[in-house]
Amino acid sequence: MSTSAQRREYGTGSIYQRADGKWIGSFPAGHTRSGKRRRLTVVADTEQQARSRMRSKMREVAGGKAPGDPTTVAGWSKTYLAEHALRNRNSTTKNVNWAIGYVVEAIGEVKLAKLRPADFRRVHEFGAKKGLSPSSVLRLHDRLKAMLKAAVLEGLEIPPAALIVQGPPVPTNDRIAIPIDTVGRIFEASKRESHDARAIVLLGFLAGLRRGEMSGLTWDRIDLDRGVLVIDRQLTRFGWSHGCDDTCGRTPRSCPKRWVAAPTHLGYEVIPRSSLVLGPVKTARGRREVPIVDELAEHLLKMQAADRPSSWDGVPRFVLLTAIGGPMGQHSLDVLWKQVLQRAETKHPSGRSWNTHEMRHTFVTELMRTNTHSSIIETMVGHAEERSTRGYIHPSSIDARSAADRVASGFFQR
Ligand SMILES: [Zn+2]
Repeated sequence: MSTSAQRREYGTGSIYQRADGKWIGSFPAGHTRSGKRRRLTVVADTEQQARSRMRSKMREVAGGKAPGDPTTVAGWSKTYLAEHALRNRNSTTKNVNWAIGYVVEAIGEVKLAKLRPADFRRVHEFGAKKGLSPSSVLRLHDRLKAMLKAAVLEGLEIPPAALIVQGPPVPTNDRIAIPIDTVGRIFEASKRESHDARAIVLLGFLAGLRRGEMSGLTWDRIDLDRGVLVIDRQLTRFGWSHGCDDTCGRTPRSCPKRWVAAPTHLGYEVIPRSSLVLGPVKTARGRREVPIVDELAEHLLKMQAADRPSSWDGVPRFVLLTAIGGPMGQHSLDVLWKQVLQRAETKHPSGRSWNTHEMRHTFVTELMRTNTHSSIIETMVGHAEERSTRGYIHPSSIDARSAADRVASGFFQR
C-alpha cells in the first residue's frame, strides 16, 4: 500500500499507518448477512494505542453475543463456513455464507443439542419477514440442514428430529413453453432490435442454448460449412477474491490486488479485466453439436459480415458483444432479451417477464411435440438425464437436423 507505512501483523489483525499519520488496526470479524467478509477497524494516534484498542475490540467481539460457544448454531457455523470455504468454489461459498448468515441471525443462540423443528420454522418465518422468496427460504432451510449433517459427522450431538424436518412449501415451478404464435411475434420484434438481440432469440428458440452457453459462444465454435454449433463452454461470472491475504480492509471487489479464483487447471479461462470466466458446460459429456437451421445460419452470416471489432485484446472472439465490445455477461443478455419482449408486447400468464431459459424449454417442447426421439433431444440440448440410453442408441446428425428443421418449420410456418 503506497499511502501507508509498513504493515505489521498482530494476532489475526493488522496495523498500519495511514497517510495522515493515524494508526489503523483492522481485523476480520465474521461475515455480513450478504456473505461478505466483515472487518472491523480502530483508529488511534500511536501504534501502541491502535494495538491495544484492536485487542480489546477483538475480545469484545469474541465475548459478546457474537458466536463464541461452539455448541450453538452460531458457534458451529463459524467452523462450518471456514471448512466449507476451503473446499468449494468462491461462488458456492458466497451462497452458503449468505444463507447461513440468515440462519445465525434467526436462531444463532440456540444450542445444537436442543434444536427442535420449531427452530426451523423460526428460520422460515425470519426469511419471509426479510422479504425472501419462498424458494430462497427453502435454500436457507437446506443449508441449515446441510450444516447440521456436517455437525453430526463432526461428532456433535443433534436431535434426530432436527435432521428430518421438512422444508417450507414452495409454489410449483411456473416455467412453461412459450406458445408458438407468441414465438412468432418475438421473432418479428427481434428483427427491429440489434444483431445481438436477434441472435439471442434465434440461439434460444432454434438451438436451445442455455444463457451461459450463448454468452460463451465464440466464432471458432461455429462451423457454417458443416452447419453445426459446437457447444462445449459457457461464460459465467465468478466472484472476486482478495489477492492481499485479506489485509487490505476493503471488500474483495475493491481489493487493490483482486483476482478471480477460477480452477484454471480444470480448463477455466478468466477473461481479463472482468470476473467473467469461460468454462466447461454443465452437461455430463461436456460437449454437443447442435444443427444450425437456415434462419440461424442467415443471421450468423450477417453478423460475421458486420465483423465488429472486439475491444478486448487476447480473449476469444465472442459472438455476442456488449456496446463497448466486451463479452456479454448474463445481465446484459437479459437486458436485450427484455427489450425484445417489450417490443413484442408479451408476458408470461402470471404477469412476469418470460425468462431466457423458457426459449430452451420451448425448443425442447417443440422437439417432443414433433415426435423427436428422446435420445436425439438429449444429444441436441445436452441433458444429463437418461444417460443409460446413450450406450445403445447413436442418433445420427441427420436425425438431429431434421428434428431442428421441423421445429423451425413450426415457428416460421414454412
Ligand atoms: Zn484485499
